Amino acid sequence: MIAVIFGPPGAGKGTQGDNITRMFGLPRVATGDMLRAEVEKGSALGREVEPIMTAGRLAPDDLVVRVIEERLRQTDAARGVLLDGFPRTVAQAEALDRMLRAGGRAVDLVLVLEVPREVLIERLLRRAEAEGRADDTPETIGRRLEVYGQQTAPVLDWYAQHGARVERVDGVGTIEVVRDRIRDAFATVGGDGRKLAS
Ligand code: AMP
Repeated sequence: MIAVIFGPPGAGKGTQGDNITRMFGLPRVATGDMLRAEVEKGSALGREVEPIMTAGRLAPDDLVVRVIEERLRQTDAARGVLLDGFPRTVAQAEALDRMLRAGGRAVDLVLVLEVPREVLIERLLRRAEAEGRADDTPETIGRRLEVYGQQTAPVLDWYAQHGARVERVDGVGTIEVVRDRIRDAFATVGGDGRKLAS
């Protein structure tokens, strides 16, 4: 199964992505985490993306696509993955589609976490205090939400037009309540609480 957890910054993709990994055994592949690890390492790629990430803008499509392509070739991804934070542009969705089609695969489910803007801002400011992420400042949060609306939200229409299953889930509630809604959404694509990947 190839699933995408989709939604604006602060919607809970990371937290619920970990829950999906626990429930269904799908490895979570998060481009934001991968890029932050490169920044931490001080690699050439990390040095290239650091100022972009700090500004709350998107890294170039070809760079992110290369990172994903390499990750999907690893053996643990063979039976499926949960993509988090990718694709974030229509160009990335098209590149992913080509990549998967070459192996006879496709995106099976796009799970959208819906959360109102004021709740997102509240959560991101709280995360700023707890984790101190460089891009969780009030100014950058505004930019990231704007980038989401302009460049990322259109990806959903693209998936709807290209026949992917798009399931919308209310992302407001306790972590457990939202997790259960997600489990129900997975059940609609053939999962029933068993580990899809085993
Ligand atoms: P995230 O942890 O998903 O919020 O990502 C943090 C930052 O990493 C984003 O604001 C972007 O600067 C960069 N990033 C992560 N994923 C992507 C992607 N698929 N395309 C472009 N930039 C990305």
